[in-house]
Amino acid sequence: MRVITAVLLLVSTAAADFAHARTADGLDPLPGDTRPSRYKLLVELDTEHSRYSTHSTITFEVLRPTSRIVMHARELSIDEAQLDSGEPARIAYDTARQQMSFEFTRPLARGEHQLRIAYSAPIGTSIESLFQVSYPDPGGTQRKMYFTHLCCIATGRRFMPLWDRPDMKAVFELELIVPTELEAVSNMPVVKRELLPSGMSRVTFQPTPRMSSYLLFFGVGAFDRVSEQVGSARLSVLTQRGKSEHGRFALQASADVLRYYNDYFQSPYPLPKLDAVTFPGAGAFGAMENWGAMFFFEDYMLIDPALSADEDRQRVYQVMAHEVSHQWFGNLVTMKDWSDLWLNEGFASWMATNATDHFHPEWHMWLHASEDRESAMRLDARASTHPIIRKVQTLEQAELAFDDITYQKGSQVIRMIEAQVGQDAFREAIRAHMRNHAYGNAVTADLWKELERVAPVPVSAIARDFTEQGGVPLIDVVSTKCISGSTRVLLRQGRFGLDQESRKARSWSVPVTAAVAGSDRIAHQVIHGARTVPLEVPGCGAVKINVGETSYFRTRYDPQSFAGLEQAFERLAPADELGLLNDTYSLGEAGYVNLGDYLEIASRLTPASDPLLSLQLVRCLLALDRLYSGLDSQEPLRIYARSRMSDLLAAVGWSPRGGESANTSILQATLIEGLATLGDRATIAEANRRFHSISTDSRADTSDTRRAIINAVGSGADAATFDEITRLARESANTAEKHAYYVAAARASDPQLARQMLDLTVTDQIPVQLSAVLITTVAAVHPALAFDFVTSKFDLVSRRLESSARIWFVPALAAYGVDTAAAEKLTAFARQRIGAAGSETVERARSKILLNAETRQRRLPQVDAWLRQHPQFPARRYQ
Ligand SMILES: [Zn+2]
Repeated sequence: MRVITAVLLLVSTAAADFAHARTADGLDPLPGDTRPSRYKLLVELDTEHSRYSTHSTITFEVLRPTSRIVMHARELSIDEAQLDSGEPARIAYDTARQQMSFEFTRPLARGEHQLRIAYSAPIGTSIESLFQVSYPDPGGTQRKMYFTHLCCIATGRRFMPLWDRPDMKAVFELELIVPTELEAVSNMPVVKRELLPSGMSRVTFQPTPRMSSYLLFFGVGAFDRVSEQVGSARLSVLTQRGKSEHGRFALQASADVLRYYNDYFQSPYPLPKLDAVTFPGAGAFGAMENWGAMFFFEDYMLIDPALSADEDRQRVYQVMAHEVSHQWFGNLVTMKDWSDLWLNEGFASWMATNATDHFHPEWHMWLHASEDRESAMRLDARASTHPIIRKVQTLEQAELAFDDITYQKGSQVIRMIEAQVGQDAFREAIRAHMRNHAYGNAVTADLWKELERVAPVPVSAIARDFTEQGGVPLIDVVSTKCISGSTRVLLRQGRFGLDQESRKARSWSVPVTAAVAGSDRIAHQVIHGARTVPLEVPGCGAVKINVGETSYFRTRYDPQSFAGLEQAFERLAPADELGLLNDTYSLGEAGYVNLGDYLEIASRLTPASDPLLSLQLVRCLLALDRLYSGLDSQEPLRIYARSRMSDLLAAVGWSPRGGESANTSILQATLIEGLATLGDRATIAEANRRFHSISTDSRADTSDTRRAIINAVGSGADAATFDEITRLARESANTAEKHAYYVAAARASDPQLARQMLDLTVTDQIPVQLSAVLITTVAAVHPALAFDFVTSKFDLVSRRLESSARIWFVPALAAYGVDTAAAEKLTAFARQRIGAAGSETVERARSKILLNAETRQRRLPQVDAWLRQHPQFPARRYQ
């Protein structure tokens, strides 16, 4: 599963009815006396009435004699259920536990039995269970596709009665009855397709291997495809008609990484085919790894030469690498339960960055990953954090597990452990883990066992400390001193926290490296506990801690060492420069150092710096600008930010001049959008000039900055421009283009227009799945406006959300707030409409808002002071 981090808490992976489901046994309520071995399913689609009916034969094993078979089920009403002996079942529903039981007159003996069940249910529109999506074909005619999405928690049980747990693996044998004009695709290849007297077609698929039920998938629609053979597997990208060529790039990515993983895991991909099926439109998550039939939203799969940028190519490649790696980590070997979710997601995130970096070293994916690491640390340094491995006891906790701690901290911790043991030993451990648990389940301790067997140095303490407790270590450089040709560094471990609660003492076994700037002689040491320890670093000069930023901690330097490092900044590798910038900003934000220190060190950057360093600066300036929102002192910051960003834009230009890196074109796009956000008139005027040629000729200006230009026009739009953009969106028959125009309009900085967009999101003009994305886009610019709109029209809005988003959505919007009033409004709303079932979600959002408010009140004066001290900055900056 790949979630959209930008949409923060809007990670709608499950569809639980939380009002009833917050019980300690919500996740593990089954008696444990039965388990499934095979589900034979015949599913018939009634597209005219938007319903489906299922006849299933479930083969299961009775482990202890029982007269009562309990399965998960939600909102399903069974027409008929009987044993293979013909005995009918008495059915009882337990809504609170999301269960259904089938009772018989006599206990069933130990061993195998079969239960036949028939039922029918509606086909919905939100992305869960079996749902339909409407989209315009290239001729503008509305078409429909049908898909299942059974991941992850409490979702499969809405589609069928089942043992809804990752460790209840079984074989799935699927037959579908579908309209004859539509194609059907599932995890396994089609065995046969026959025309029925009814005029419908029956499609039979090969049985799946033994797998977890959340990986079952089918899709029905009019598809085009591009394909390629890799080893024994046929790889395909399936798209809506007329778009298959846009899937070519993703196909190449899937072929690259499949070969890479076949070798890495030393266990070839076991299925005969691997499809990547595209959902025509936007939605709440990026992609899903269903075995043999991955599922992607268009934004995460298609490259449209007229609209896509390098950023899209990097995202498509990396998301493909993520989902394909799940075919092993997740599908072949699955976590035992959701407490070990990171074994799926941390590994897939780490693997995807590695594989993408392997094929595209010029993208510097590990430098890009520093942004994800920052997101993880920001969450991990607050009271509401959790350990990577967390005993999940409620559905809300299981939902919250799909966050940056699990994905990104997980990925960073794996990277740190790999750096400790070496790539070869680490790969050996992974291969053994795959061999020993194939088609089964595993817990984190199983992996550590393999690692201990092959690791040349002990790593268990590090592994446990970073996965079993939350929080971010802080390594303090107490002093540095040159003594006969080497530098003695005194280090002390503490804890980095953004609030009081998260500063409480805690200690880790932290692998620390250090080197003199410009030197490749690296000193290593694992630091335990809080006492001050010396580290001898070869050579004399400014010392950088955490060389290459491969360990997960923050570093604070004493003032003298920091000053030395600032002077030596240009001699550091980009990863170290980036680490220093990130740490300094974050330490400043939390009050460990003066926030002006960040601006000071960032003034070392020039237009010749690595584009990812410039991107770090742009993002920090935009983050500061959001914190300044509504304050009189915002203008000096804006003048400074516009000046620095305009200089950068002048240096990189508005469109490729030939020969730039992909990261440079990402910088171009970010600068254009960012300057428009800051209200830069020159940028908005130039964007409008270019936009006119784009909108009158879709082939004009196919550069990588096309979408950025549209976004800039959206940000600076007046009423006439807003109408123009929304008209283009309405009239476009290209789902990606439609999406891009609506998102651009939602960025409007004019509050009147933002309000107009919010009103639009609850009309039929906007595709259902796009509403939440647009409201969130408005909230990023006008948090209070978006919050007030959604809370005043909650019933209307929530009809367009997935059911679980009733809990997520409002806190996600509120989290953009920067003052205590926003926190209070959220509390009041939560009390009325969310209740105890969403308490952790609400608390996370509240702590984010209060942190924003504190930074605004206590740290921005430091930025004001720095700006006052550097009135001439733009003139003297690159001397
Ligand atoms: Zn994933």
